[in-house]
Amino acid sequence: ARDLEGRITYVNPAFCQMVGFEPEALTGRNAPMPYWPPEMVDEYKQRQAIRLAGNVPPREGFESVFMRQDGTRFPVLIIEAPLISVQGEQTGWMGAVIDISEQRRIEEVSRASQERLQATARLATVGEMASLLSHELNQPLAAIASYANGSLNLLQNPSAVPQTMDDVHMALRRIAEQADRAGRVINSVHDFVRRRDQDREALPPQALFDAVSPLVQLQARKLRVTVRTQIDPQLPDVMCDRTMVEQVLLNLARNGMQAMDQPDCTDRRLILKARRAASNAEQAWVEFSVTDVGEGITDAVASQLFTPFFTTKSEGMGLGLSLCRTVVEQHGGHLEFETLMPKGTVFRFTLPVKPALALDKIAA
Ligand code: ADP
Repeated sequence: ARDLEGRITYVNPAFCQMVGFEPEALTGRNAPMPYWPPEMVDEYKQRQAIRLAGNVPPREGFESVFMRQDGTRFPVLIIEAPLISVQGEQTGWMGAVIDISEQRRIEEVSRASQERLQATARLATVGEMASLLSHELNQPLAAIASYANGSLNLLQNPSAVPQTMDDVHMALRRIAEQADRAGRVINSVHDFVRRRDQDREALPPQALFDAVSPLVQLQARKLRVTVRTQIDPQLPDVMCDRTMVEQVLLNLARNGMQAMDQPDCTDRRLILKARRAASNAEQAWVEFSVTDVGEGITDAVASQLFTPFFTTKSEGMGLGLSLCRTVVEQHGGHLEFETLMPKGTVFRFTLPVKPALALDKIAA
């Protein structure tokens, strides 16, 4: 308690314990108080002057820093109220002081652990991206190697030279395309890490299928799979990050073909489809699907399908599907799968239609 001049008239044992001074060292003292840190004296004097001029202190109290007798500082919450006598006159001020060091410490620990968590999450993302990069680059590199080997074989055969030169030209063009594709994968994944808005462009679904077709065909021939494409007529353009979506199609097609790579699977068919999906007033969607007649997905596998690094393949990385889902969801779309009877699996995902077209459609 303080009188109207700010002099201490009473201190309780709890306060004495908190600041480490005896009651005698405090009672009767005026500013600067012994528990004020010297560096704060000016500020606290000003605060006291404002208070003594009759300004009402904030009801919720205010935070400050006090100093123990041993010189250590600690944070406090001070709640003050006028001290009123039985005659109804103000005789001074009454202050309740709460040591909030523990509260502060907990806040600090929680903030630090929050920061650590975020740092860990960022690291995990970087690690995941690094793995993704090697995963996604394997494809164009494998294609480049196989076109290069094919060309070497062709050149070793001196007969049928004009035909050979045409084939070698084609293979070199494909190599250039794949090298370009690898470059775009790196840029795209790089953007992904930085969470920059991806380059979205309006593309006809056919263009996406055409872009992945050579690579899909390459693997299809190796695994003796027949690939069919079905695209609904007059589909609107979709808004997408071309390279990332091509990667999704490639991953799904590759998974489908690998699922059919079983001795008992003789009629190996992979169907790539694009059609209109259920749309609402805000947004129209195109649904892409990849259907295989492979081994299917058991419940045990299904529950971990999208977990990064989950794979049932000896050479698998288990990143394909988690990447697919992230990419599709970053486009606002949805990726799902369904086990087919008697066998096979279909993966479907949606991509948003270019807005202007969607509005046209609604108007029509
Ligand atoms: P990876 O292909 O490297 O194993 P993915 O994330 O692409 O990684 O797939 C994870 C697992 O999901 C595969 O190992 C496989 O067991 C299963 N899977 C994915 N697609 C299919 C499919 N079309 N049919 C059957 N199983 C599939």
